[in-house]
Amino acid sequence: MVLQRLQKVIAEAGVASRRKAEKLIVEGRVMVDGKPVTELGSKVETVSNITVDGEPIERESHHTYIFYKPRGVVSTASDDKGRKTVVDYFEDLPYRLYPIGRLDYDTSGLLLMTNDGELANLLMHPRNKVAKVYVAKISGQLTPEEINRLTRGIELDHRKTAPAKVKVLRTDHKKKSQIVQLTIHEGHYHQVKKMFKAVKHPVEKLAREKYSFLTLDSLVSGKYRELSHAEVDRLK
Ligand code: URA
Repeated sequence: MVLQRLQKVIAEAGVASRRKAEKLIVEGRVMVDGKPVTELGSKVETVSNITVDGEPIERESHHTYIFYKPRGVVSTASDDKGRKTVVDYFEDLPYRLYPIGRLDYDTSGLLLMTNDGELANLLMHPRNKVAKVYVAKISGQLTPEEINRLTRGIELDHRKTAPAKVKVLRTDHKKKSQIVQLTIHEGHYHQVKKMFKAVKHPVEKLAREKYSFLTLDSLVSGKYRELSHAEVDRLK
């Protein structure tokens, strides 16, 4: 359950500025679940009922979607080169959604989109080590020693990557390439590509197939579905 500061919730509902909301609280005009709350900094749950002068406030509803990002789409809200963005796929919805983290322009797969800032911050915080599973087509073939290095952690941008899981799914001896599943718990810029590049096996194609417990299931490229409350709670 997410807790938020009462004055922030009132301000976000558009009832008053943050300063004015604090005044309303101190003056005893705010009730939470039927009880007056006069202490500043009190925290309320997402599901609490809040009234100001007896009138319920409208709380912004949060929506989170699982999206199958196609290749050739940017993960930002706008693009100075005029390329298609992930936000374009959601323009018929009445909320302003943004991606939780990024996938490269040429990476496809599972991307979460939300208008819930707290959820986004929580999931993107380095403390929250969400497992992300990628499938990469790499050039060449990994040796057991290289698999070991990737698994234990390698030096990248002056820091060592956290332990990862590496599973070779397929080897194409003729084309001298491999399909490899990589599970990481971090999300640094171009991390997967850099990890494979560090062991001299550049990524030719990359897709994310899993984020925490979520998979794309029957979603097809360019489509999305809204997560249930239970799924969002499980992510927290
Ligand atoms: N790592 C990458 O290199 N690219 C992505 O899009 C995601 C993870």
